[in-house]
Amino acid sequence: MAGTQQPEVNIGLVGHVDHGKTTLVQALSGSWTDQHSEEMKRGISIRLGYADATFRECPDRDEPERYTVEEECPDGTESEPLRTVSFVDAPGHETLMATMLSGASLMDGAVLVVSANEPVPQPQTEEHLMALDIIGIENIVIAQNKIDLVDSEQARRNYEQIQEFVEGTVAEDAPVVPVSAGQEVNMDLLIQAIEEEIPTPERDPDADARMHVARSFDINKPGTTASDLTGGVLGGSLVEGELESDQEIEIRPGREVEEGGQTKYVPIETTIRSLQAGGETVDSATPGGLLGVGTGLDPALTKGDALAGRMAGPPGSLPPTWQQFTMTVDLLERVVGSDGGEIEEISTGEPLMMTVGTATTVGAVTSAREGECEVNLKRPVTAEPGAKIAINRRIGARWRLIGLGTLQE
Ligand code: GDP
Ligand code: MG
Repeated sequence: MAGTQQPEVNIGLVGHVDHGKTTLVQALSGSWTDQHSEEMKRGISIRLGYADATFRECPDRDEPERYTVEEECPDGTESEPLRTVSFVDAPGHETLMATMLSGASLMDGAVLVVSANEPVPQPQTEEHLMALDIIGIENIVIAQNKIDLVDSEQARRNYEQIQEFVEGTVAEDAPVVPVSAGQEVNMDLLIQAIEEEIPTPERDPDADARMHVARSFDINKPGTTASDLTGGVLGGSLVEGELESDQEIEIRPGREVEEGGQTKYVPIETTIRSLQAGGETVDSATPGGLLGVGTGLDPALTKGDALAGRMAGPPGSLPPTWQQFTMTVDLLERVVGSDGGEIEEISTGEPLMMTVGTATTVGAVTSAREGECEVNLKRPVTAEPGAKIAINRRIGARWRLIGLGTLQE
């Protein structure tokens, strides 16, 4: 892959709707994650928008001015690439919290975007920070956005509100960088803060590959004859190990099969036919960013996200598949958001919605003790013991985040 770098770290963009997440991603990467036609074209973009940005530096300049995403420095020389990062643009709308959480499990750090022209916190500013807290994302940069809309006195007051709001949270020590994504002001300062606060995680190159499948597709045009069909495509994120073209993989829990009125899941094995990372075709893929995997599977199996929420890796290496499991539970103190009521203990018999990796599944609680419960799942999940589980309870008309579970052996 001459000339290109694969993204090596996933950075979530979180914060209240309309505070400028998508605009910020666009300013840093030149791509607009909300654009569905573009997603369709790439064919592998997940519900969360992914966009890659290569941070660069102009070695002759001082900090922070040396940081840029432009290939040319102001003096006409070429800038040097530092690293490529992948932004995960989480939707701000509150009903999409589960999507945000399933994305959060793929985030190595986050940029919390807070608008300078509104009181702090707005509902999803709080909800998303809480999610980062319970999922354990500690590397955070706060972008105080839209500073072009306020005077310096308002900016200072808003800054103080932000500091007060994050006190005692995981973002307590996060730098607050005043920016205007719309006018591309202070992007160099923001890049510097991200470079310093959100390092690329150390990864074990010998670990077995673990891919969280977030989407799956049939990319053939209707009416393509059988002999011309391209195999099914998986989209998602590699969190460990490496994948190579031509390698065998197993996908678990696998495909849904109806048998005698019962639904079963059958593991699938296939060969990787092509790999796409950072928008390029590659021979091998490493963790970070979004991965597209062309397989030898019948595209009917991958059509319409049929394999979303699965895990893929070398055959025989994948962690257990659970139809029921025990989890330890850390409940939030109260429901986040405008109507924040207290959260009652989980009780036997109640339904919960759980997000594990990219899998979202509903289950019934079969036994509940303080700090621990057992659930029976409608759809099984494949996950490592110790995996984090976002737990949602139905409150009123929607599922609300009530706590974090940890999968027990
Ligand atoms: P998101 O919902 O957080 O992704 O927010 P968007 O990026 O879609 O931005 C919401 C609105 O705010 C859009 O109309 C943007 O043009 C505008 N916006 C974003 N950043 C800025 C900024 O720095 N200054 C100003 N004036 N407007 C901005
Ligand atoms: Mg947006």
